[in-house]
Amino acid sequence: MHQARTTCPYCGVGCGVLAQVDGGRITGVAGDGEHPANYGRLCVKGSALHETLGDHGRLLRPRVDGVEVNWDTALETVAERLSSVRRAHGNQAVSAYLSGQLLTEDYYVANKLFKGFLGTPHLDTNSRLCMASAVAAHKRAFGADAVPCCYEDLEEAELVVLVGSNLAWNHPVLYQRLRTAKSRNPLLRVVVIDPRVTDSCEIADLYLGLAPGTDARLFNGLLAWMADKGRLDTIYLERHTQGLADALAAAREDDTSVAAIAADCDVDPERLETFFFWFASQLHVVTLFSQGINQSSSGTDKAGAIINCHLAGGKIGLPGAGPFSITGQPNAMGGREVGGLANQLAAHMDYPTPGAFDRVTRFWSTPTQIPTLPDGPGHKAIALFEAIERGEVKAVWIMATNPAVSLPDSNRVRHALAQCPLVIVSECAAATDLLPYADIVLPTSGWSEKDGTVTNSERCISRQRGLLPPPGEARHDWWIMVEVAKRLGFGEAFAYGHPGEIFDEHARLSGFENAPEGEGHRAFDISGLAGLGREGYDALAPIQWPVTAKAPHGTSRLFEDGRFATPDGRARLVAVRPRGPVQRLSTARPLRLNTGRVRDQWHTMTRTGRAPRLMNHRAEPFIEVHPDDAAAHGVNDQQLARLQGAGGDYVARVRLANGQRRGEVFVPMHWTDQFSGMARMGALLAAHLDPLSGQPELKHGTVSLAPC
Ligand code: SF4
Repeated sequence: MHQARTTCPYCGVGCGVLAQVDGGRITGVAGDGEHPANYGRLCVKGSALHETLGDHGRLLRPRVDGVEVNWDTALETVAERLSSVRRAHGNQAVSAYLSGQLLTEDYYVANKLFKGFLGTPHLDTNSRLCMASAVAAHKRAFGADAVPCCYEDLEEAELVVLVGSNLAWNHPVLYQRLRTAKSRNPLLRVVVIDPRVTDSCEIADLYLGLAPGTDARLFNGLLAWMADKGRLDTIYLERHTQGLADALAAAREDDTSVAAIAADCDVDPERLETFFFWFASQLHVVTLFSQGINQSSSGTDKAGAIINCHLAGGKIGLPGAGPFSITGQPNAMGGREVGGLANQLAAHMDYPTPGAFDRVTRFWSTPTQIPTLPDGPGHKAIALFEAIERGEVKAVWIMATNPAVSLPDSNRVRHALAQCPLVIVSECAAATDLLPYADIVLPTSGWSEKDGTVTNSERCISRQRGLLPPPGEARHDWWIMVEVAKRLGFGEAFAYGHPGEIFDEHARLSGFENAPEGEGHRAFDISGLAGLGREGYDALAPIQWPVTAKAPHGTSRLFEDGRFATPDGRARLVAVRPRGPVQRLSTARPLRLNTGRVRDQWHTMTRTGRAPRLMNHRAEPFIEVHPDDAAAHGVNDQQLARLQGAGGDYVARVRLANGQRRGEVFVPMHWTDQFSGMARMGALLAAHLDPLSGQPELKHGTVSLAPC
């Protein structure tokens, strides 16, 4: 028996895990006391990881058109059919849809293959559903998609504000850290801003149960209040930012009296002013935001309104201060690092980044092969499946995610997939709602088998280690793509034999011709991790980017010197004009729909659904509703009821919840047709998008409620 270090594959906290490996099995897991994300803690999902393993329910052999084949046939078929689509319809007829479940090395190879050598920009990822709005807001404010904070800031803060985040359920180890910090420091205050009373409220000194979609109004109001009360950090603003006048003018287009803001947000005015006072009077404030902010048709502006307040108060770049986007998935950040969003080219460079096209072309060129990079961005997730439905995109390779469940308007996504001439699916699980749409099915390795790196919410790169051989004929995602690349004639550019070689190339590209700070400098730079060699890569300890010659041990906190990644080094406050959710209430659909995770499940439950004890918390899907609404709509606790939404129906048992606002219902996101029959969240929601980030409004729909 031996103990091995790896990381948890679930949420964006990215906890270090010690796995007991015994006789070709993992017999137990514990928190890694040396990992800076969790210092030995694990949540209930992480501590059940070893109970989710085993060959049962795994996809074990490749299939083409429903027939099991060997790998050579599968890989040849993938290469032939992709080539055939490109020949007949052009490069942009092929596409890829990836996942924050992939490791950075997988992501890197996919981005290079599709954008670099297949010549299509249409490569996007389910990270679009998670934090694309935060990415857009970071770029607009800081000049780069760079999270300023680190987890230690929760322990250094005097005030922690949770907005649109049920940290207790969705990032449990961070919540444990915050709870411990609060018990050690009685002066640390916690404010929860969320339409629902969640378990995170247990440690709240103040709770604001705002109306859905009013976050930007609230933070615009805070900005105006700070200005009116003389609470702006004028020296910081003058030295390090621009845009205050426009941001304030936009905030003042609405009535900025506390009474008016409180009325618009449907919160108690005294509580609201208490929050404003606390925020304005503390320097060390962390505002931690998550999907409640991002999954909105105005998510970028909501995040921007939060960032404005931090810049206006100089509450950034200090211990215990900053706006802190917490990602949902373990490697949502890693995908951004390699360019895994359709609007990115590679290595945190967007298509318009000066010199990026030429730089990446030269970096990826080999003596005999020159990449054929597309010259503009591709379709973001929702637009990609719409292009498939229109017949413009004729081939999609989906890896480690299930858009047939998780995208809004999922019945339409299924229709698009059904008519797509070529659907390739790389997957671990033998049965998912997506597989019936696949022409080619490729079995892949999963957690405990995959070997590579992930980056968590605080920019910390950690190794996820391959401890067991993949079952059956399952293979690593990067290997599958490399083999396809060889068969497409790109072998020289994809001559990788180990994930460490891919990581090395990724690290070198991140620093390739990086300009000096303030001259188009790219904040993401891990060139200090280039040249590790196999041993160094295997032994790589968690480290936060940037990692450069100047910062060889990584960087805990960004913007400490007040310089940002914009051309002039100044952060931008932005003018935010609050907009409500797109879907409006009607007599046909009189209730607001909110959606989210439950504590013990992960995504579509292909892994957590295998551990019986994780079903004890919530064994089945549900509809959470306030008792008054239940009475008004004729449904009782535990009764089966039907929601009708813009895209379809959802049937589950009712759970009465006093913490639910009146006029609103909540459903979990995890259950699929396979697990539940008729409780697929994605079927209820229309696909309304944030115009800047392309992130869908998964946190808001309208529904009717009736007994079954
Ligand atoms: Fe895994 Fe997140 Fe739990 Fe940590 S908090 S053990 S990363 S699910």
